[in-house]
Amino acid sequence: MSVGYRTLPDMSDVAASGSLAPPFIDAPANADTVEAIGALSPSRAGDFVTCPLLYRFRVIDQLPEPPSRAATRGTLVHAVLERLFDQPAPDRTVQAARALLAPEWERLLSEEPELAQMFSGDAERDAWFGEAHTILDRYFTLEDPRRLEPARRELYVETVLDSGLLLRGYIDRLDIAPNGDVRVVDYKTGTAPRAEFEARALFQMKFYALVLWRLAGRVPRLLQLMYLGNGEILRYAPDEADLRATQRKTEAIWRAIERARSRQDWRPRPGRICDWCAHKALCPAFGGTPPPLPAAAADPYSSRTAAADAGSAARADPLPEIPSPRSFAPDI
Ligand code: SF4
Repeated sequence: MSVGYRTLPDMSDVAASGSLAPPFIDAPANADTVEAIGALSPSRAGDFVTCPLLYRFRVIDQLPEPPSRAATRGTLVHAVLERLFDQPAPDRTVQAARALLAPEWERLLSEEPELAQMFSGDAERDAWFGEAHTILDRYFTLEDPRRLEPARRELYVETVLDSGLLLRGYIDRLDIAPNGDVRVVDYKTGTAPRAEFEARALFQMKFYALVLWRLAGRVPRLLQLMYLGNGEILRYAPDEADLRATQRKTEAIWRAIERARSRQDWRPRPGRICDWCAHKALCPAFGGTPPPLPAAAADPYSSRTAAADAGSAARADPLPEIPSPRSFAPDI
């Protein structure tokens, strides 16, 4: 088991906690009453830091990206793990999880029929399904969902910082212990990062912790990344200093985005991410030519860019989780 910078007692035996959840996580957000100057999710912040041009293609140009098998497998596994907790606690078995795979896949297909085009035939699709089975089985080696009662699953959170920047995103799972301790849980279907890249991997979790802290005035006790690709867990206990530093980093990323936008300077930054980039053919680093910038791109928070970032907060990230090191994670 890989552990973050500080080891904590495992909170895996979180007792039924739903009754404690509302006062903490249903605190009113200020996003409806404070005017935002821009919006950022952890995924899009990571995009910009990894490659400003990738950020542009996704947020400014809003170029479509074909579905990928790895990303879709991640979406499927997340959906199954979310639904698993609909079952009564004693029924949350590995067999129950496996039984959810096919119906959840059918649901995804009905919403996005083009997903079927990811496979050249039944054998390829069956092999992909087999990988999803393996990932789900591995989840059960890490914790016993029969002993958990999550306070929230797929929780959307948002808050506006004093600078006017709106932070938002989806938290896979929130556990709240009887003493009120909060654990933020994120499932990754890839493998755990090497030690030198753990800080990057934790940025997303600290981002969520920052939002929760601002919403409820309480720092989450534990951030837990569950790498189902290789069965490791990364845990970290944040403190207020961590979260203030995360806020400074996030605002620095936003200022860099605004600078790039005002100068219309979206430079490619080639790296391992390029192997998964859907826009390689348009990238100057690979001999391509980006399309002209949309007219609204000069507006720092136009309706077009706002809509793009709102979309970016959606559950599924269009790129697959990349084997460690996760080159798209922030490195500020
Ligand atoms: S191919 Fe690489 S450098 Fe080019 S936009 Fe994509 S991620 Fe950036």
